[in-house]
Amino acid sequence: MRKIPEPFRIKMVETIKMTSYDDRKRSLNEAGLNPFLLKSEDVYIDLLTDSGTGAMSQEQWAGLMVGDESYAGSRNYYHLDSVVKELFNYQHTLPVHQGRGAEQILFPSLVQRCNSQNPIFLSNYHFDTTAAHVEMSGATPINIVCEEAFDTQTYHDWKGNFDLEKLRQAIWQYGAENIAGIVTTITCNSSGGQPVSMKNMREVYSIAKKNNIPVIIDSARFCENAWFIKQRELEYKNATIREIIREMYQYGDMLTMSAKKDPMVNIGGLLCIREDEDLFREVQTRCVPMEGFVTYGGMAGRDMEALSIGLMEASDEEFLHYRIKQVEYLGYRLNQSGIPIQYPTGGHAVFVDAAKMLPHIAPDQFPAHALANELYLEGGIRGVEIGSLLLGRDPKTGLQKSSPLELLRLTIPRRVYTNDHMDYVADCLSAVKQRAEKIRGVKFNYEPQMLRHFTARFCNAA
Ligand SMILES: *Cc1c(COP(=O)(O)O)cnc(C)c1O
Repeated sequence: MRKIPEPFRIKMVETIKMTSYDDRKRSLNEAGLNPFLLKSEDVYIDLLTDSGTGAMSQEQWAGLMVGDESYAGSRNYYHLDSVVKELFNYQHTLPVHQGRGAEQILFPSLVQRCNSQNPIFLSNYHFDTTAAHVEMSGATPINIVCEEAFDTQTYHDWKGNFDLEKLRQAIWQYGAENIAGIVTTITCNSSGGQPVSMKNMREVYSIAKKNNIPVIIDSARFCENAWFIKQRELEYKNATIREIIREMYQYGDMLTMSAKKDPMVNIGGLLCIREDEDLFREVQTRCVPMEGFVTYGGMAGRDMEALSIGLMEASDEEFLHYRIKQVEYLGYRLNQSGIPIQYPTGGHAVFVDAAKMLPHIAPDQFPAHALANELYLEGGIRGVEIGSLLLGRDPKTGLQKSSPLELLRLTIPRRVYTNDHMDYVADCLSAVKQRAEKIRGVKFNYEPQMLRHFTARFCNAA
């Protein structure tokens, strides 16, 4: 497969340090066998997340210099508001400190409006903080992604799609009046950065409207989703990415966005509402004590400027082509080495199927986490588990929830690593594969109650 060269040249560099095996062994032990607890200095190539780790462009850096740090009415807010209107055609914009800031001020309103004893959110797949905020607002998150998402070895264009039959069934089963919202996550992070088709978004919206349920578009990777629609959905072949984005957002009533992903800022987020002014006033009211005044919401003026610019750069087609092809290239290299991955690769990461690679490790000994540790020991590369550890326990029974997949996510930051770095990662993982049957699972030394994967500590299982 042909590599697409980086569509940028490098003007500033940050040195990264290669460590020895013994260094890494010591660092990982000190981190309680949890890569989240490593110091970043001890990591050579950091594929933990694409969140807030992107490289800003010279235009974004220049934007920082024209920050208007007025408490109220910053010109950077009005610029951001105009970019939101242009890209999404949504009337109301609230900046927030990051994606979860939008979740914490929106979900309580939606639950209140629903006025049910057992409020429910339906989603193709709730991201982990999204599920946590649904639960914290007193509701239950239910995922209804299509079956194909769980079959990592078989090609499917739209592994992020809702299973529409299950969606209709869920609305019927729980009752439309108990459903506080439908969350369309694009791309679907938890199924492997997999895209949702325009057709699916349209149908989900139509089902929601028939039942009077609001649709929230969880928008962390909306540009990557638009690129897949252009490539794979025939009728959009000649549409521009921006035209595709505008249509996607007709199939939602509001959006929450982590601006740390596609829009390439290091911190920031958005909550935008298409037209519902009453809802906008309500969330504005909650924004002030939780995030900050309504024209900054936890962001510096300069950061809002960098975000406005990043939103436009992220939707540039040439950049997106390189971006997605780089991810695909890493997937291709792993595939060539016989390493099972979620296929085809999605937008922002390659997901290694650890259940297939380490079949001798039981789900409650977290095979993908064990694999992450092994890859760190091999080459100083940090990846992250997306499986049973992330999913956690059922809050009612305290039992480990059963995860359909045990994945190691190798997330590629935007404009940060070159294709040579991808080759190195593939070489290291191939070396790990050679000793796969010797790798042991892990068990808890310390397990926090909520979002346990961030701070848990482990030892090797017997
Ligand atoms: C990252 C992410 C969030 C949460 O955003 P933060 O900026 O990390 O608070 C929500 N949904 C999806 C799909 C995400 O990827």
